[in-house]
Amino acid sequence: MGYIDDVLAFHRRRDFNESEFLQALDEVLNSIRPVIEKDEDTYRDLALLERLTEPERILRFRVPWIDDNGKVHVNRGYRVQFNSAIGPYKGGLRLHPSVNLGVIKFLGFEQIFKNSLTGLPIGGGKGGSDFDPKGKSNREIMMFCQSFMTELCKIIGENIDVPAGDIGTGAREIGYMFGQYKRICGRYEGALTGKGMSFGGSLTRREATGYGLLYLVEEMLRCHGQDMEGKTVCVSGAGNVAIYAVEKAQQMGAKVLTVSDSTGWVYDPDGIDLDLIKQVKEVEGGRVADYAARRPRAEYHEGRGLWITPCEIALPCATQNELTLEDAEHLVQNGVVAVAEGANMPTTQEATKYFQQHGVLFVPGKAANAGGVATSALEMTQNSAHVYWPFEKVDRRLQTIMVNIFHSIDDASRRYGMEGNYVAGANIAGFEKVADAMMAQGIV
Ligand code: NDP
Repeated sequence: MGYIDDVLAFHRRRDFNESEFLQALDEVLNSIRPVIEKDEDTYRDLALLERLTEPERILRFRVPWIDDNGKVHVNRGYRVQFNSAIGPYKGGLRLHPSVNLGVIKFLGFEQIFKNSLTGLPIGGGKGGSDFDPKGKSNREIMMFCQSFMTELCKIIGENIDVPAGDIGTGAREIGYMFGQYKRICGRYEGALTGKGMSFGGSLTRREATGYGLLYLVEEMLRCHGQDMEGKTVCVSGAGNVAIYAVEKAQQMGAKVLTVSDSTGWVYDPDGIDLDLIKQVKEVEGGRVADYAARRPRAEYHEGRGLWITPCEIALPCATQNELTLEDAEHLVQNGVVAVAEGANMPTTQEATKYFQQHGVLFVPGKAANAGGVATSALEMTQNSAHVYWPFEKVDRRLQTIMVNIFHSIDDASRRYGMEGNYVAGANIAGFEKVADAMMAQGIV
């Protein structure tokens, strides 16, 4: 068996109960096969893949907290510090009942390559807890966040590990965690990102993932002799990523036809009204059905099915595995030109293959949604210099980063004879930099 197969077989035996992590290993290691096979003996002698796939450190801890009725609860907290070859660990904190070690390891492993692609000095990490913030009072959220940080603060710091938000961890939770970190450690430093603007947050962070997605798509289209002007676009989701993807696509002259949430989706033949969707989602906390009710020509459809809408650009920005093979068949039949993932893993593996086989430009989330973490890294830079940059400066940096990401994945796909395979290109480009740093730093 080859080196990659040996490493995969080893993990299947040892980490058999971590299905999400095994799936991520399989996808990444198989796509860097051409790189490893070029110099297999060196990588094997240095046990590079064994070291890359084993987190540098895992902290699992008890998180006791008291609810509003005085009852004590105990959750599990995790921080996986996966790889610090190119910089301090960086990655979000997920608060969701589905969180377990396998999920956090999967996310942390993926984060290594995403962070590497940004070109910024950030390593890979991820953390979280099986705590469910839904239905909790503000006070209960604060109790949990303080207890969580009481343990986590022992291993993080501005030059060590800088966690951020993720599912269930928004500005409120980051605020409570930051307060507790400062109180225990006695230091005012950027040990967390996603902070409020009054205490070290960065302008453009809110827009970063959606804007970044469009900057990358625009550059990809330019390199294929096209542009966004006049293109029809389908966006799924109506959250942070989706809304700012709609905004930037419209600024670039495209017509966005759809948005969705977990209850249904809207087709608006006149193009999505950005002010209205912001009002419904960001101000009123309503459903996309409320949007449709205020637009005479918009259609509301219960459940899923958005991808039957004909469009040239598809941007899945909602959730994992939301775009299936059947959806991909509809999109291809209707002449889709490009698909770029705003969400993490929204396209199933079968759908991804189908796009690639049918000549659709397909960019995985690892590259396409890296604008979020890149801007978090820019927040770190501002914090360490004790400055705030204006919106335009962060936005310009973001644009440059996304354009560079496209070129690095495109270049990697060409170098290995897989031109246009941006899934392989993203994994290879992300891997090369980390591998180079790991080899230079010796057996650690
Ligand atoms: P939000 O929670 O702000 O928005 C998610 C949106 O997706 C909501 O409109 C939600 O609807 C909708 N949604 C959830 N489940 C489904 C479903 N089953 N079918 C249809 N719609 C659904 O999250 P974000 O916008 O921040 O994140 C979206 C994705 O992007 C996630 O995968 C996230 O991990 C990824 N991502 C986010 C980054 C960021 O900076 N925010 C950075 C990189 C990746 P409802 O309101 O009904 O729940």
